[in-house]
Amino acid sequence: MDKIKMTTPLVEMDGDEMTRILWKMIKEELLEPYIDLKTEYYDLGLEHRNETNDQVTIDSALATKKYKVAVKCATITPNAARMDEYDLKEMWKSPNGTIRAILDGTVFRAPIVVKGIEPCVKNWKKPITIARHAYGDVYKGTEMKIPGAGKVELVYTAEDGSQTKELVHEFDGPGIVQGIHNIKKSIESFARSCFSYALDTKQDLWFATKDTISKKYDHTFKDIFQEIFDAEYEEKFKEAGIEYFYTLIDDAVARVMKSEGGYIWACKNYDGDVMSDMVSSAFGSLAMMTSVLVSPEGYYEYEAAHGTVQRHYYKHLKGEETSTNSVATIFAWTGALRKRGELDGNKELMEFADRLEKATIDTIEAGEMTKDLALITTIENPTVLNSEGFIKAIAKRL
Ligand code: NAP
Ligand code: MG
Repeated sequence: MDKIKMTTPLVEMDGDEMTRILWKMIKEELLEPYIDLKTEYYDLGLEHRNETNDQVTIDSALATKKYKVAVKCATITPNAARMDEYDLKEMWKSPNGTIRAILDGTVFRAPIVVKGIEPCVKNWKKPITIARHAYGDVYKGTEMKIPGAGKVELVYTAEDGSQTKELVHEFDGPGIVQGIHNIKKSIESFARSCFSYALDTKQDLWFATKDTISKKYDHTFKDIFQEIFDAEYEEKFKEAGIEYFYTLIDDAVARVMKSEGGYIWACKNYDGDVMSDMVSSAFGSLAMMTSVLVSPEGYYEYEAAHGTVQRHYYKHLKGEETSTNSVATIFAWTGALRKRGELDGNKELMEFADRLEKATIDTIEAGEMTKDLALITTIENPTVLNSEGFIKAIAKRL
């Protein structure tokens, strides 16, 4: 059999610990036998980040601007314990943060839905994708404890020195205060990423804020989305047969619970943080969540939503058997390959991505799965496979 050819490379960002082990197995068992895999390889493993003073992370993000599509393995975000473990020169920043700052995108997280792993919400039949704005609000807030009586004001000083003031509160005793902000440009790129991704995946887009209470702050989000939609996307949405729908956050929450899924829910930063944890745990497992960073210019970086599964890696190092779920990492690869195929007009590559996803889902639905899923499945007497056994079971079907 001839291998499927690729014309443009993917940016491949290797990572750490157990996911680095899975990464190699996935390539050897599921990709390289069928595809003449072309990647530009960046080793974001912590040792190599440390050797290159983290330059490799920056280089991999710049390469993503060049080639437009990247696939990333989970990576360690260093903390004090990792400083000793890896003898680091510095506590390097989170690679995801560095890459996001360079590509300026929105992160979309979606569950992989299979029969036998049932969501807690019984009417959810299709995935709900959460799009979280990744800039500002309480994550860049300034706070004060107010010790006693006094006045708190917001003061804006323009470049010409003129000032505008708003009273926050006249305190007659102790209290607290918080100042938050956002930037028009960031909200605009959030909106464009959401509209493009909705078109890309042919799903409706929902957006919700608390604009009835926050008449300037949240209302600005609503207005920016609407202006961009009217000017740039309305026609395209019509052609694609999808809808943009704005509602109040309270109404959105109620509708989400009663819906059958199958749409993108765009959330402000805090709402997205909280709602993505709710949606992912309600769908079953973090090991079944994919994540893609979409930049407003149309660069895509695919990854699993989970981390490096450190506890399993230490077992692996001791020579013990592991049963680590590789589904989200496989879907990061299929997402990237499908997008590469789409951009290059490479139909064979897109079809391969579909087949690999189907083989993965069929394997689980036939009752062959890793331990994390076996614990929550409704399938009777599932076969629990180890990390490698599961990938081999998929390869057999593929
Ligand atoms: P984690 O790697 O997501 O794992 C947390 C726990 O969730 C695991 O111990 C395991 O539970 C379960 N789990 C997660 N993924 C699984 C999988 N594929 N198969 C089976 N079980 C899975 O989070 P963490 O332990 O908090 O973080 C480990 C490292 O990952 C940290 O250094 C962190 O910085 C990094 N991290 C990276 C990313 C990223 O690159 N995007 C994201 C998050 C965290 P049991 O132990 O109960 O089996
Ligand atoms: Mg959270």
